[in-house]
Amino acid sequence: MALVAFLSSMVQSASCATTNNNNILAANRTISEKFVKLTGISAGKTEKLMEKWIGNRPWTPETSSQFDSEIIEPLKNLRIALLVVDFQNDFVNGSLKIGDGDAGQDPLEAIPKLNNLLENSKWDMIVYTKDWHPPNHISFLSQAYDSDRKFDRKSEDLKVFDSVLFTEPFKTNQTLYPDHCIQNSEGAEIYPDISIIPDSTYILKGTNPYLDSYSAFNDNNGKDKTDLEEILRNNGIQAVVIAGLAYDICVKFTCLDAVRLNFLSSVIPECSAGLLKNSIIEAEKEFADSGVAIISAEQAQKISNRSFIPEEWIRKLTNL
Ligand SMILES: [Zn+2]
Repeated sequence: MALVAFLSSMVQSASCATTNNNNILAANRTISEKFVKLTGISAGKTEKLMEKWIGNRPWTPETSSQFDSEIIEPLKNLRIALLVVDFQNDFVNGSLKIGDGDAGQDPLEAIPKLNNLLENSKWDMIVYTKDWHPPNHISFLSQAYDSDRKFDRKSEDLKVFDSVLFTEPFKTNQTLYPDHCIQNSEGAEIYPDISIIPDSTYILKGTNPYLDSYSAFNDNNGKDKTDLEEILRNNGIQAVVIAGLAYDICVKFTCLDAVRLNFLSSVIPECSAGLLKNSIIEAEKEFADSGVAIISAEQAQKISNRSFIPEEWIRKLTNL
């Protein structure tokens, strides 16, 4: 019986209801209120989801308790990590300022809310990633003519942000950037205003001189993985909340890899900054298509307190 029909029949018969019926109604209401309270999802949507789950079966104390143990309890016990992507000096005020892009998004504006999430939330794990390039990295315009690499363009008049196809030593499409985030340089350090939480995990990316790595999980050719997936799995992490720089590049590819690897994934635009208007629009389309939940900083705070679960996560967890 549909939930609404069930509830109204219970209400109509309340005056002559048996103790048993009252118990059923009470159990059912409790469970739907518990779901609304935990997920922050509206009562109407919760009702639809519960109807879909129950199908043709009746709501009884048994089915209510089954809904609790199969749907609600796993949501309450999710293990969730906060990933702070590449919030490094060179991207904030160094050689590759994200704020110089046509989106005009200043990373400094993202910091207070991001710090609040780092300092005042209950994450099971916090991960900071760092772009961490050797001085001859393939993404540096200054190194494009090195004798150990070849690209398929006749013109030798390359400029910053040009795209080239390197054919040697690996075939890889590459956008060329100013030198940035060179290993152990000041520019590669995390921006000093970012709160560093003790006992956090650090992931270094882009360490292979011949391959770039936008995602914190693996390089752009999918050849080498970082330790991120294994570290998350070893810590029982099921969901990741992601913010950082640049929203439309490294944050985007990290989010898309996270869902591809079956982590529930959310991204926080207001704790991030993007480079280019068009690629931000493109990134958000890809987030929507792949089930990455786009959330506010306030919602991220609630996720960490287990008082909000994005619908995208509920759909993936419950198949409802
Ligand atoms: Zn880089």
